[in-house]
Amino acid sequence: MGFLSVVLWLSLGLIVKDAAASDWCYTGCEHTPTHWKEMSGSFCGESKQSPININTSVVRTDTKLLDFTFVNFSDKDVIESITNNGHTVKCILKANAVEVSGGGLNGTYSTIQFHFHWGDTEHHPGSEHTVNGERYPMEMHVVSLKKGLTADEAQERPDGIAVLGFFINATEDGHMSEAWETLTSYLGNISEIDKTVEVNKKISISDLIGHVNLSKFYRYMGSLTTPNCSEAVVWTVFHEPISVKSDVIIHDNSPSKWHLLPDSHCGGEHQSPINIDKGSVEMDESLNAFKFTNFDNKHAISYMINTGHTVKCVLKDDLVEVSGGGLGHDYFTLQFHFHWGNESQDSEGSEHTVDFKRYPMEVHIVHKRKDLTLDEALMTPDGLAVLGFFIEAEQTSNGHSDSDETAHRTSSNREAWQKLTNYLSTIEDIDSEVKVTNEISIDDLLGSVKSYYRYSGSLTTPSCNEAVVWTVFEESVKVDHDLIVVLQDWNAA
Ligand SMILES: [Zn+2]
Ligand SMILES: [Zn+2]
Repeated sequence: MGFLSVVLWLSLGLIVKDAAASDWCYTGCEHTPTHWKEMSGSFCGESKQSPININTSVVRTDTKLLDFTFVNFSDKDVIESITNNGHTVKCILKANAVEVSGGGLNGTYSTIQFHFHWGDTEHHPGSEHTVNGERYPMEMHVVSLKKGLTADEAQERPDGIAVLGFFINATEDGHMSEAWETLTSYLGNISEIDKTVEVNKKISISDLIGHVNLSKFYRYMGSLTTPNCSEAVVWTVFHEPISVKSDVIIHDNSPSKWHLLPDSHCGGEHQSPINIDKGSVEMDESLNAFKFTNFDNKHAISYMINTGHTVKCVLKDDLVEVSGGGLGHDYFTLQFHFHWGNESQDSEGSEHTVDFKRYPMEVHIVHKRKDLTLDEALMTPDGLAVLGFFIEAEQTSNGHSDSDETAHRTSSNREAWQKLTNYLSTIEDIDSEVKVTNEISIDDLLGSVKSYYRYSGSLTTPSCNEAVVWTVFEESVKVDHDLIVVLQDWNAA
């Protein structure tokens, strides 16, 4: 059997975003998601906004939600054109050809288009909706207007628009249906913003949806997820994801960097995190000390952002550096973030384990090779370097001797962690960010830890690129127990 590899590596690097042509964006313009609410005529930030996290423990069963009736979803001639609107790939349907009703919808809706969301590497890769905090790699939205209403009229009604949301999951072995191959084959022709091409190959919406059970779905009243964020949408989010071969997962939301990831690497041979088996660790004399530049700079953190699954501290550009440590290259420090596990997945604590011991938390400091762009780094086995630190609560009472030095270090570290966690309450919404003005250096947070484990691995979230030189420090960083609780609780909020 031959793999039909749909390798579409769209390099749209030449497109320079024209601020006037597009007044909102996900990254790289004035009106990023946290600023959408400031745009005129915008409903963004109001009370019934989408997307949401679907907490399955508080979902109620509604017996009034019967099955849907789909008209012409399996017609292979209804997709008229496919367009790059600068934010997404949108497939426009022939007028008055496709309809949806039932499923608890109040009336019949005319289906006008479907499009995709795949997040961006800067904020959160993946779907817009989350289920118990978990994101899928991609999400498809099938958009319908209440029959007889214009798009403007539909936006005036709380149920004027019906959107069917499908999660899209990547599978390695799962069959990638012909329909997806056909659809993605058009992408190479719409690499420029506002480019539209006619679709003349046979693809139906049902072909794309595949075997998803259409009688299992979540329902809520919400909004459009892009400006003007009108609160006019009856949302249907199907439980089961559409499974496609990982080749078609679209990656990176920034229009100037649209890529169809040629391959999601999740499940590959050099995946992280790992369990570090101390018995099989070998000493390596070529691993020397690290040289940290500006780890003691108290103004290196630019802002903190709630990515939807962690808190990330983004550093100022080209300021903090790491070399030595057997890395063989110089690296810029981009950001650091935290992992404290996921209650619903029963994986509380650090990502790496040592002899299967899990620590309460792990910090990852992410670096990129200075001589590579981020895109290049993601495709290079040592393009990224991540420093991992285990975090655990310091033992204060049980006769642990405190030398002056550790006492001193602990107090500066306590103050820095306090300052950092004080920001958390201001970024409780996904994608919200706060400028860091307090004096906090990385050294203040992490102190001095020396011995480390080294292995070649991957990013621990999609697309799991095997591009990471991992350094996991042996000694844990000790912080107040309270601060660990603050972070873990913040996640639950
Ligand atoms: Zn959408
Ligand atoms: Zn991480």
